Amino acid sequence: MKLRKSAAVAAIAVLALTATACGGKEGSAGDKPGGKQPGSSEAPPLPTYEVAKDVALDSPAFKKAKKRGKLIIGAKADQPYLGFEDQSTKERSGFDIEIARMIAADLGFSKDQIEWKTVDSGIRETAISKGQVDYFVGTYTINDERKKQVGFAGPYYKAGADLLVRKDEKDIKGKETVKGKKVCSIVGSTPLQEIKKPEYGASVVEFAKYSDCVQQLLTKQIDAVTTDDSILKGYAASNPDKLKVVGQPFTDEPYGVGLNKDDKVLREAINDSLERHVLDGTYKKIYEATLGLSGSEFTLPPALERY
Ligand code: GLU
Repeated sequence: MKLRKSAAVAAIAVLALTATACGGKEGSAGDKPGGKQPGSSEAPPLPTYEVAKDVALDSPAFKKAKKRGKLIIGAKADQPYLGFEDQSTKERSGFDIEIARMIAADLGFSKDQIEWKTVDSGIRETAISKGQVDYFVGTYTINDERKKQVGFAGPYYKAGADLLVRKDEKDIKGKETVKGKKVCSIVGSTPLQEIKKPEYGASVVEFAKYSDCVQQLLTKQIDAVTTDDSILKGYAASNPDKLKVVGQPFTDEPYGVGLNKDDKVLREAINDSLERHVLDGTYKKIYEATLGLSGSEFTLPPALERY
């Protein structure tokens, strides 16, 4: 039943998006966000990363990357302040992008030796396990289910699922108040699994990209978007007159860097990089120049889970 409904809503969404693309624009969901942008003159400067020399690792992914002369990194493209691609300049920006560049530098790859591949939530496990990316950095929650298919370095951040609503929303104040409401989330994401639990009583709508859910919210076809607060704050900051985050997180979402399940050497190298740059302050600088701009307070990441 729900699936059929989702398909119908998806079809309407495509129509709505086409209409928006051709005509007037109702806020920005997937294009250039508003507000203070990472890398802009008003934002704190981004750190630079020293590119390590003569790195040698007995890791299959690393060896392949060395041979081709570049790293292939999977990322999101429609999450402002986290993983964002400016459609006109093709520049990538955000917290996850910088974490990925910082790790790349420690592996001996400069910014120009990175090839980015946009990988949405629903296809992460496939892209990683099939070796389409060397590693993936994109609001990727570490959990046991996913560990059956991929490996994780980290965690390097902890988010929690929350709700994004229109600024004038009065009824939705937290997870207890979504009964009968149309709530959108993303295929293959942990918050989608959560909001589908019968106890919430929500009417769930699914898309492949968060920006599609946000567009639906702006055009009043749904009542709320649920996913990690870190992501939702980015959309709210991009549409400050139209959207707000409820601010009552209801899950734990520790972010990891996804990589081949059996590549322990690369996993350890990435963990070393994360550890080193939390200690030397680079991590905090990255945070303040990216995610911090959308209103998330700085906290140190949880302890690394080395396994
Ligand atoms: N962190 C959650 C997840 O990994 C939601 C965000 C996302 O879809 O990337 O599923």
